[in-house]
Amino acid sequence: MSQASLEDYREAIRADICNHCSCFVQDPMLPSGRCKLEPSGACPIFFQLPEILDSVSAVHDESIEPYVTKLRARVCANCENQNENQVCRLRDSDDPSLSWCILDTYFTILVEAVERVDRKRMISRAGARNRKPKN
Ligand code: SF4
Ligand code: SF4
Repeated sequence: MSQASLEDYREAIRADICNHCSCFVQDPMLPSGRCKLEPSGACPIFFQLPEILDSVSAVHDESIEPYVTKLRARVCANCENQNENQVCRLRDSDDPSLSWCILDTYFTILVEAVERVDRKRMISRAGARNRKPKN
């Protein structure tokens, strides 16, 4: 995983995904903009964020496919919704009565948010290095 803190990634995900997510559930006890499903563990993005970040950080590509491949291997492979033939009952079903996977639906936005945090972190570290007085 990159050097940015987990909270930096959480903030970016709240801004880019939660603000538009159709599953958002407001809880008056939480700061505005935070969904009740985040701390409850019911959101598949926040529940397994470290594993998701590891899979995103392992790829640097213009195309989303390599990120999806890594996600399937690192996260979906351990998900109870996917069987031993790599068939997911949410992702691979046409049954409208079944729910959908928030992580899979918003994955492209998630990758962009994570990589934006990483870029900001790199720029800020480079700036700090350049500001160091030279002996
Ligand atoms: S379900 Fe997850 S992604 Fe959607 S608003 Fe809630 S915490 Fe955010
Ligand atoms: S796409 Fe399916 S297997 Fe992958 S995380 Fe979502 S529900 Fe689990």
